[in-house]
Amino acid sequence: MKIGILAVQGDFEAHAAMLERLGAETAEVRTPAQLEGCDGLILPGGESTTQLQFLREEGLADAIEKFAKQGGAIFGTCAGAILLATEVQNPKQDSLKLLDMTVLRNAYGRQIASDVVSGPTKLKSEPLEMVFIRGPIIERAGPGVRVLAEYAGKPALVQRDQIMAATFHPELTDDTTVHEHFLSLVAAGASQAAGSAKS
Ligand code: GLN
Repeated sequence: MKIGILAVQGDFEAHAAMLERLGAETAEVRTPAQLEGCDGLILPGGESTTQLQFLREEGLADAIEKFAKQGGAIFGTCAGAILLATEVQNPKQDSLKLLDMTVLRNAYGRQIASDVVSGPTKLKSEPLEMVFIRGPIIERAGPGVRVLAEYAGKPALVQRDQIMAATFHPELTDDTTVHEHFLSLVAAGASQAAGSAKS
């Protein structure tokens, strides 16, 4: 399984280190060609406005849309979650619109704008450690979107089919739970694709 990581700016190296710890192959993605052959894609944190502009200029926005339509698994953290949302506010911004949710940028307020907290998760019985860095709030999660973890009464980790988004940074902790879950989505998508290629 090969996981592409959008490597424009932001903390893409921390995602690569965590995925490699879990035995996955990783590849830095800066062009549509580099996305080909990947089974999963990570959109890391950083600055969503800059990232969106880069995706458009390089033709990657269209390539990612096609990748998602073909069942490729995508995980967006923080700025990456903003890129995946169908609606972005505070301020309003365009996006890839691959996950039905409304996000408010930089919305957690000063006290937890950047902080390490923990909250309940459906992925394990213990609380999940979450590192917030000027993260967005998920104000609305659409029908069919599963909330896998929450903080302060708001969804912090959500998933629909093979698309997942976190408003925090799981790659900056020692806890591999969230990345393991993403790899299970990638594996499910890869076996489906193999099945449809055979039939
Ligand atoms: N505040 C950034 C944005 O709005 C996201 C911050 C992050 O990815 N850590 O794009």
